[in-house]
Amino acid sequence: MANAERRVPIESGCPDGIQYMHPVMRENFGHWRYHEDPRPGVLRHVAHSGDEIWTVRAGTQRILDLFTLRKLCEIGDQFADGYIRFTIRSNIEFMLSDGDRVAALVEALESNGFVVGGTRNSVAAISHTQGWLHCDIPATDASGVVKSMMDQLVDEFRQWNMPNRVHITTSCCQINCGGQGDIAINIQHTKPPKIDHTQVANVCERPSVVARCPVAAIRPAMVNGKPSLEVDERKCVCCGACYPPCPPMQINDPEHSKLAVWVGGNHSNARARPTFQKLVAAGIPNNPPRWPEATAIVKRILKAYQTHAKDWERINDWVERIGWPRFFELTGLPFTKFHIDNWRGQQKSLNASTHLRF
Ligand code: SF4
Ligand code: SF4
Repeated sequence: MANAERRVPIESGCPDGIQYMHPVMRENFGHWRYHEDPRPGVLRHVAHSGDEIWTVRAGTQRILDLFTLRKLCEIGDQFADGYIRFTIRSNIEFMLSDGDRVAALVEALESNGFVVGGTRNSVAAISHTQGWLHCDIPATDASGVVKSMMDQLVDEFRQWNMPNRVHITTSCCQINCGGQGDIAINIQHTKPPKIDHTQVANVCERPSVVARCPVAAIRPAMVNGKPSLEVDERKCVCCGACYPPCPPMQINDPEHSKLAVWVGGNHSNARARPTFQKLVAAGIPNNPPRWPEATAIVKRILKAYQTHAKDWERINDWVERIGWPRFFELTGLPFTKFHIDNWRGQQKSLNASTHLRF
């Protein structure tokens, strides 16, 4: 077959990012000497070759409309070198090789309503999952929760007034993407799913749903002469894992799907081992459009951390040093029976503690 007739392969997945990098970054890839933070939202990296690159970071709402995106690109073309990228926490970063142009870029961003910050010991932009806009199973609008909270935390984003970096995440269901950070705001279902038996036979692949339940609470059943499912409510832990493969097992509920706040998660293993977050507040109303109750709790935790942690202590390090009883005292959050991890399957993880043995 002649070359011209050959089918071009269809490429999928992420393209190689190197081709989109600022030329100075490409040329000095892997050869950086140090970096510094001249002001909040601005980084200066210096390479072994003597080259330097300046990065200006601004928060975005992640789900960007076309007009905002065009405006950001225009600013990048006009005030930076035309190179932008997005961070994992939905910030936009502009790269430029001339430090004298940084002030004009910051001014252009701020005069267009963007907030510059999110570096060093600040509260980084809150990362969130898809919410009502894109996903088929969310019980809350994670992006809406983020917007409401960041409106209240804009000074903590803009300034360096935290002991160390704070990563906050939100997650709009209880089982899938997102939901691990210094502070995480996650959905918490409190009632087992309600089954619409008229739909199960048409929509659900019953063996997959049965296999998916982590506590084996779902059984096949005949209801009104039709194949359906039943849930042993004494076993059900209200995780919601059955709902994605079987929409008739409706678990989202305006009253009983709540928010919960978790603290102390850290993916890093650079200086210490990664840590799991722990539940600190449960049963918080899932209250759109501004979620004031959840925001008040997050602000209370941040205030206690800001006042009592040592410089450069992350939230998990702070809690490890003072202990969880003191954390609840300092934050004023009530410790209730819902904080106790009493799921039978958790015996293994409880046994992993050096303090608690069965
Ligand atoms: S967290 Fe759950 S509901 Fe939200 S986007 Fe991910 S899978 Fe969908
Ligand atoms: S909510 Fe979770 S525990 Fe309950 S039945 Fe569904 S999969 Fe099982």
